[in-house]
Amino acid sequence: MAALTHLGVALAAKPAARNVPLVVLAAGAYALDMIWGVLAVAGIEGMAGPETKAVNSWSHGLFMALVWSLLASLLAWRVSGARRTAVLLGLLVFSHWIIDFTSHPMTAVFPHDAGLPLFFAAEPLVGLGVWRTQAGVTVGEYGVLALGLTIYLLARRRQRHSQPTIQTQS
Ligand SMILES: [Zn+2]
Repeated sequence: MAALTHLGVALAAKPAARNVPLVVLAAGAYALDMIWGVLAVAGIEGMAGPETKAVNSWSHGLFMALVWSLLASLLAWRVSGARRTAVLLGLLVFSHWIIDFTSHPMTAVFPHDAGLPLFFAAEPLVGLGVWRTQAGVTVGEYGVLALGLTIYLLARRRQRHSQPTIQTQS
């Protein structure tokens, strides 16, 4: 649920996937939150409240995150036919869990957040809790977004500068 951090990761991944549109990479990086959104509307998952513990196993459990990553990878392989794209998309989907594991429990944003499940049980809920402090949120969100954007823009500039050389050679 670290909103901007996942976008930063998608931007940073773009130079490694020139043929994949950025929107597809972003969809991969946000896939678990999109699944959560659908399940939340269906009343299966949700937000933690003062009396309700949120165990979002289907979207954010470690086991299911691995399953979704594998499915995304297989889908990308089918669509693109490129093993590299398939691996990248799978890693991108799984990067969401790594970042959420780092950020949750993000009590600076959601006071009742208790962490992420591993399988389907309500115990244990895990996470490093970097988003427990406002400083953690700021660095984690804007810092990673800025880093990802820098990587993305530098790669784009390099690509643009290298294009005329390719043309004169041909
Ligand atoms: Zn999430």
